[in-house]
Amino acid sequence: MILPIIAYGTPVLRKVGVEIDADYTDLKGLIENMWETMENAHGVGLAAPQIGKAIRLFIVDTLPFADDDELDEKERNFLGDFRKVFINAKITSETGDEWVFNEGCLSIPEVREDVFRNEYIVIEYLDENFKKQTLKLDGLAARVVQHEYDHIEGILFTDKLSSLKKRLIKKKLDNISKGKVNPDYRMRFYNPKKKTS
Ligand SMILES: [Zn+2]
Repeated sequence: MILPIIAYGTPVLRKVGVEIDADYTDLKGLIENMWETMENAHGVGLAAPQIGKAIRLFIVDTLPFADDDELDEKERNFLGDFRKVFINAKITSETGDEWVFNEGCLSIPEVREDVFRNEYIVIEYLDENFKKQTLKLDGLAARVVQHEYDHIEGILFTDKLSSLKKRLIKKKLDNISKGKVNPDYRMRFYNPKKKTS
């Protein structure tokens, strides 16, 4: 089932996600719906707060980057196969030089900006079978995971921009908060009058 994607301006996007256990209500169904929702919106990642749940869960599939000519063959092959569920993740190390990449976010349609992030990360997490995993990542795989990980910490990529850039996109962000945007996927906008998560 395709779920509406929660738009910028909604409080759930600012919550620090809580850990979940294997008994979480219909977790399998939730993850299936998140895959479907992400693919429908042509995203490379989706975090649970973006579908209205402040829990430490996100998914990543970097397949769309696999035919990017600017990447070397080794990275393209890796990205073509990098599809994972991250539960209760913790980034334990972020190192290397900061590098810039033009990021977007399904919760912030029509806004893309250059964001600086460290090159290397180590992340510990549980996979969909609640098996403990540790991954060392670099390049675009690290980048996408860092972006999604920020979501479960209540952080958005626009938080990482200079104050000048923030001023320049303020109007666009205000419009998204008010629902004045037309993405080609379903979204849910914040309505302060309505009780919502
Ligand atoms: Zn995002």
